[in-house]
This record gives sequence, C-alpha cells and structure tokens, in this order.
Amino acid sequence: MAFDNNHIGFIGLGLMGVPMLRNLIQKTDDHCQFYLYDVASEPVEKLCAELPARTHQCQNPRDVAEKSDIIFTMVPEGAHVRAVYLTPETGILAARPGAALLCDCSTIDTATSLAVREAVIQQSPSTRFFDTPVSGGVLGAERATLTFMMGCAEDDPSLPLLKDLLGKMGRHLIACGGPSLGLTAKLCNNYCSGLIAIAVSEAMNIGMKSGMDPHVLASVFHSSTAQSAICDDWCPVPGLCPEAPASKGYKGGFKVQLMRKDFALAVDTANRVGAELALGEKGLEVYTETMNDPRCKDLDSRVVFRYLGGDEDWEKKDRSAPRQ
Ligand code: NAD
Repeated sequence: MAFDNNHIGFIGLGLMGVPMLRNLIQKTDDHCQFYLYDVASEPVEKLCAELPARTHQCQNPRDVAEKSDIIFTMVPEGAHVRAVYLTPETGILAARPGAALLCDCSTIDTATSLAVREAVIQQSPSTRFFDTPVSGGVLGAERATLTFMMGCAEDDPSLPLLKDLLGKMGRHLIACGGPSLGLTAKLCNNYCSGLIAIAVSEAMNIGMKSGMDPHVLASVFHSSTAQSAICDDWCPVPGLCPEAPASKGYKGGFKVQLMRKDFALAVDTANRVGAELALGEKGLEVYTETMNDPRCKDLDSRVVFRYLGGDEDWEKKDRSAPRQ
C-alpha cells in the first residue's frame, strides 16, 4: 500500500496525545503537515499557534480524514472512539475519500474496537484500521519510550509502516497477533500491574507495621521472588523511588480512575472468554473504592497504598522502637 505520509491527522489532544503528537512532528520532515481535532479546542489552538507552519485546526473528525492519509486517535473510552469514527456526517468514516491508515491508540473494550474495524471494512474497504494501545504513561509519551501493542500479525503488510510511524513515539513495538489483540494485551498488562500494586502495598504494610525499614524490605523484594517494576520503579510507598508519583504526593502518573476503567475492562473480557479470576472482583472493588475516596481521587493509581491505610509518614518516625 502506498501512502503519502506528508498528511497526518491526530484526534484527541489530552495528557497522552499532546506529547505523542509533539514527537511525531519533531521526527518527521518539515513539509509534513498535521491536521488536528479535539472536542476541547484549547489544546488544538495552543499547538497551532505554536507551530503554524506544521499544524492545522480541523472542524471535526471528517474534516481531519478528508485532509489526512494517516490518522491517530487517542481519546478516553469506547464511546468516544465510536463518536470519532462512526458519527454520521462528522465522523472519520463520513469522509470521501477517507484516510488510508487509521490507528486507535486509546485503551477501550475490544468489542468497540472490532465494531469500528468492521464498519471501516464495510464503508471504506481500502482503509486499514488497527488497535495500537500504549503503555508507559505521560513520561513515556514525552520521552518517546512508549510500548505500542499492535493489533496485527507479524506478517501484516502494514507492519513496516506502523513500525516507522509508531517508532517515532515509542521504543517497544509489539505485534500482538491480530485485530483487537493489542487491546487484549494492554488490558491483561494493566490487570496484572494493578494487582501487583495492591500486593506490594499490602506486603509493605505488613512489614512496616512489624517494624521493618521499607528500604530494606524493598531491597529484599528486589533480589527475591517478589521483584517487580511496580516495587522497583513505581513503589506505592512514598520516599522509596524519588521519581515515582508516590514520592510526589501521588501527583502525575496513571490516574486511579483510568486504572479502574482498564481493570473493569479486563474483568469483562475474562467473563466473556470464560477465564476464571480469583482476584478480579476484589481488585475491582479496591480500585472503585480508591477512585471514590476523596483522599485518593484523581491521583496516581499507586495511591492504593494510602487507601489501604499505609503509613506515609514513616520517614519522620523512630523505627527502632519495638512494634506490636
Ligand atoms: P485525556 O482525558 O487527558 O485526553 C483525552 C482527550 O480526548 C481530551 O483532550 C478530550 O477532550 C478528547 N476527546 C474526548 N472525546 C473526544 C471526541 N469525541 N472527539 C475528539 N476528542 C475527544 O486522556 P489521556 O490520559 O490522554 O488518555 C487517553 C487514552 O490513553 C485513554 O484511553 C487512556 O486509558 C489511555 N492511556 C493513558 C495513559 C496515561 O498515563 N494517561 C497511559 C496509557 C494509556
């Protein structure tokens, strides 16, 4: 498939979309033009004012699609993805001719992604649609170190182009096997990392309440079977990883409501495919309650340590006294 890569659309300029787009702009030729849309006009206007020679504000997703050969979408949930692609008159699929390659980077349910893909096949047979969700957070988006989980096979003819484009925003590009399997991989990853964050919080809490220095406990985990990126790099206990959100009042990072959304989508997927979950309902309850706790709302998901009653002021205390 031949593409004129000089016209690229981007829809959804939020926390992730803006830094991803900035890397794309920076790493493409000066004559490559970008067509932007977001329901909130402010981030689009800001970028267009900053980079007038490269960026153009569009009226709706159809407008983006009529001007672009390739489009990336990065919106919050399945309902937004449906609206962007399928709204009659103003959606991406209302464009004639439409774009040739569509990449949805949002984390949504697989059923919506497959329904959008089917609509693309029906209404615009020469267009290719892929689910390409990401992991790595805002920092990964800024540093162009995201992991992209691509919903395609290793021998998909579009893979070289996907790798070329996504490689400008990410470091690890993994073909997950076929349509919607990028999303499946993303949901499985977040189910797992969400449970590990709860487990690390609980285990740290046991050790700290028994009188252990959390630095010592973290170094034991690091060199034993409890080792994990959550404990090593994103520790829920404040003061152990200086760069982690926990050490900055749980600011920045991956919001607890996004973790709750992804966790719920993973549990739904498990129910649909008949995968038994021992911890799914409990994990979902923990993240739902954390998300609704006024002390935790809108903060990084590792704030689950606070929700579970972890001691955040441990550094100020004398740990030599015997604990009960
Ligand atoms: P965000 O809320 O910051 O940004 C989403 C943007 O989409 C907003 O600017 C919003 O105005 C726009 N939008 C909503 N509906 C729209 C529509 N119909 N048309 C056009 N624009 C619309 O969210 P985010 O943090 O950038 O996350 C986006 C997606 O990436 C989510 O699915 C999220 O789960 C996933 N994700 C986020 C992170 C993270 O750390 N924030 C990490 C990995 C994956």
